[in-house]
Amino acid sequence: MKDKLLHKLKVLAESAKYDVSCSSSGVARKNNGSGLGNASAWGVCHSFTEDGRCVSLLKVLMTNVCLYDCAYCVNRRSNDVERAAFTPEELVEITLEFYRRNYIDGLFLSSGVLKSPDHTMERMIRVARSLRTVHGFQGYIHMKTIPGASRALVYQAGLVVDRLSVNLEIPLEQDLKRLAPEKDHQSVYKPMHFIQQGMQQSLEDRKKFRSAPRFAPAGQSTQMIVGAAGDNDRDILHLSSSLYQRSGMKRVYYSGYIPVNTYDARLPTTTVRENTLKRENRLYQADWLMRFYQFSATEIVDSGQPYLELDMDPKLAWALRHPEQFPVDVNTADYAMILRIPGVGVKSAKMIVAARRHGRLTLSGLKKIGVVLKRAQYFIANNELPHFTIQEATPEYVRRALTEPASVRPPSQQLSLGF
Ligand code: SF4
Repeated sequence: MKDKLLHKLKVLAESAKYDVSCSSSGVARKNNGSGLGNASAWGVCHSFTEDGRCVSLLKVLMTNVCLYDCAYCVNRRSNDVERAAFTPEELVEITLEFYRRNYIDGLFLSSGVLKSPDHTMERMIRVARSLRTVHGFQGYIHMKTIPGASRALVYQAGLVVDRLSVNLEIPLEQDLKRLAPEKDHQSVYKPMHFIQQGMQQSLEDRKKFRSAPRFAPAGQSTQMIVGAAGDNDRDILHLSSSLYQRSGMKRVYYSGYIPVNTYDARLPTTTVRENTLKRENRLYQADWLMRFYQFSATEIVDSGQPYLELDMDPKLAWALRHPEQFPVDVNTADYAMILRIPGVGVKSAKMIVAARRHGRLTLSGLKKIGVVLKRAQYFIANNELPHFTIQEATPEYVRRALTEPASVRPPSQQLSLGF
C-alpha cells in the first residue's frame, strides 16, 4: 500500500477509536519482545452479525474534517489536529485489500460532517455500493448514519449495508444543545425513524416477493456518552428502555466520557477514569437486565436511586433493596422470579425449570447447572441450607458478605457448604 494512503489510514482509524459501537478497539498494547503480536487502540474492531457471529471490522472514518464543533469530540472543527479524507475509491481499495488478506471480515464506516450531512452520506454510500455491486463484496458493513441525513439517502444506505446506526451521543436534549449546538435530538431520531420504516417496508415487501431487497438486516444501534453532561443513570436507562421499544433497535452502547478537550469549560473538569469505566460497565449490566432478565428501567433505578451502585452489580442491588421477594424456592417459583436470584443466569434459570420436571433440585444439582451458590445461598430456600437467608441475615449483612467478604465473619450457625 502506498505510504500516502497508509498515512491517511492511520489518521482516520485513530480518529474513529472513540466510537464504541464496535467494542474492542480501546486497548493499545505493545509486544515487549517475549510475546506474539501487538494490540492497537485503532484499526480493527469486533462486532456481531445478524446470526450472532463475531466478526473483525476495519473501523475508519471517511474523513475527520468536520463542520460541527461538538465539545466532547476530538475531531471538532476548532481542534488543531491533522485532517485527512479518503476518496470513496481509496477506501474501497483498502477494504478489499485487507479482506483478501484475511485481516478483516468487513467495514465499520463513520465520518465527520463534510460540507453537509447529505454530501457526507453520499460519499459513504458510494463506498458501500461499490463494494457490494461492483466488487461483489459479501463481508459485513456497518455504517454510521450522519445526523440530519435525508430519508432518501438513509434508504439507499440500508440497501447496501448490514447495520445502520445513529449516535444519540448525549442523553438529555438540553445538554446536547449546550455541548453540540449544531445538533438536536430530532436530527438523530429522524434517521432512526427512517431506518425503522425501511426495515418494516422491507419485511412487508419480502412477504410478497422473496427476492425483494433486504434493508439493514442486522438492525440498528446507537451510542450514548456517559459522564460528559449532567445526566444520571436513570435518565440514560429510561432512554435506552424507550429506544428498545422501537422495532429493529438491537443495541445501545455506552461510552464512558474520555476528557479529550480539557480546555472546554462546558465539560467536566475532573473525571476519575476508573469510576467512569465502572459506571459504563454497570450500565451494560443494567441494559442486560432489561433485555434478558425481564427487568424494567424503573425497577433498576428510580428518582430515589438515580445512580447505579458502583460496588455491586444492579441485579444484586435490586435484590438487596427487595428482601421481601426472597428466599425463592427454585423447585416451585416461576421462571421470571428464578431469573431475579443473584447468582442465576439466563441459561441456569432455563435449566432449573427444565430439570425440576424430573425431580426436586438439590444443592449439588444447582451447582452442576452453573448456579453461583456463593451468591445465591442468601436468596434461595432449600432445606439442605442452614436457615440463613437474606431474611435472617439482613440485607446489610449480605451486602457486606458479598462485596467485602474479608470484613464479615460467617455466623456460627452457617454450615460449611464447600463452595
Ligand atoms: S459531528 Fe461527529 S465528528 Fe463532527 S464534531 Fe460532532 S461528534 Fe465530532
